[in-house]
Amino acid sequence: MTTAIGVVVTERIVAGRLEDKHLTGTVLHYPEDRAELDALSAVPVSELVEILANLIASLAAQGPADAIGVAVPGIIRHGIVEDSPNLPQIKGMRIAEDLTRALKERGITAPVHAANDADAIAAGVAATRGQLDKLVRVWTIGNGIGYGRWPYVEGVWEGGHVTVTLDPKERYCGCGGVGHLEGIVGYRAMRMRFLDMEPEEVFAQAKKGDGRCREFVDLWHRALAAATASFIHLAGPGRFYFTGHNVRFLELPLLRGHLDSMVRMSPLQSFSLEILPSDDETQLIGAGVSAVRAMAQ
Ligand SMILES: [Zn+2]
Repeated sequence: MTTAIGVVVTERIVAGRLEDKHLTGTVLHYPEDRAELDALSAVPVSELVEILANLIASLAAQGPADAIGVAVPGIIRHGIVEDSPNLPQIKGMRIAEDLTRALKERGITAPVHAANDADAIAAGVAATRGQLDKLVRVWTIGNGIGYGRWPYVEGVWEGGHVTVTLDPKERYCGCGGVGHLEGIVGYRAMRMRFLDMEPEEVFAQAKKGDGRCREFVDLWHRALAAATASFIHLAGPGRFYFTGHNVRFLELPLLRGHLDSMVRMSPLQSFSLEILPSDDETQLIGAGVSAVRAMAQ
């Protein structure tokens, strides 16, 4: 039996213990009050390492762990956070090394593997649906926009920052880039665009027929379709999953309509689109599975 500890860092932290791809025991949350959003944006790196190490240590006390997988948003390569626009303080953090050291002080020596948070969801979907031998792609729609894929391949894969428009006025992306997907679809970007309305109101008003809001909701879906179409044209059709806090805004028929107009070559039209309920479990399993896979390689 393989055991692992999975940890996911997004706007908050969740951590759990896995036995053979199944969560076991209690899932830990930081902060414990799950309603508190954006709890991590002001936490300095040194404190974050301590919080993570303490969560992992309490899970390790429940039973052994062969590997520890930590999923964080941003460009994560070779255990280093190369960039993380929505958690700027962790840019440059040697997360695998820092955590390994902090865990050693607590008597834990299992290898630490760091992965991108959206890649962890893709890994979790693949693992829980028996698709570990297939190509799985996931869009996470939240404050930022994440793109995850399983199996992991070396690369940057910042799908949320692909350019989907040439309009120079489109500059709401958290990274500062012009014309990016996240600058249209991301929650923070929507708040910057509609200073007088919350995104929830924009989508609600669109349903009631408000012209400006309807136009935006259409743009929102077209942007997501454009980015998805680009990945279909690069890596081929296959399964795309949509998840994250703001997947509630997504209307699959609208998305599919735009995709059908963008993907016209018949060998590429066999893609499937599916909404995944936003749950911690899939991502935790994915973080653990990625760590076990990395350990085996
Ligand atoms: Zn961007």
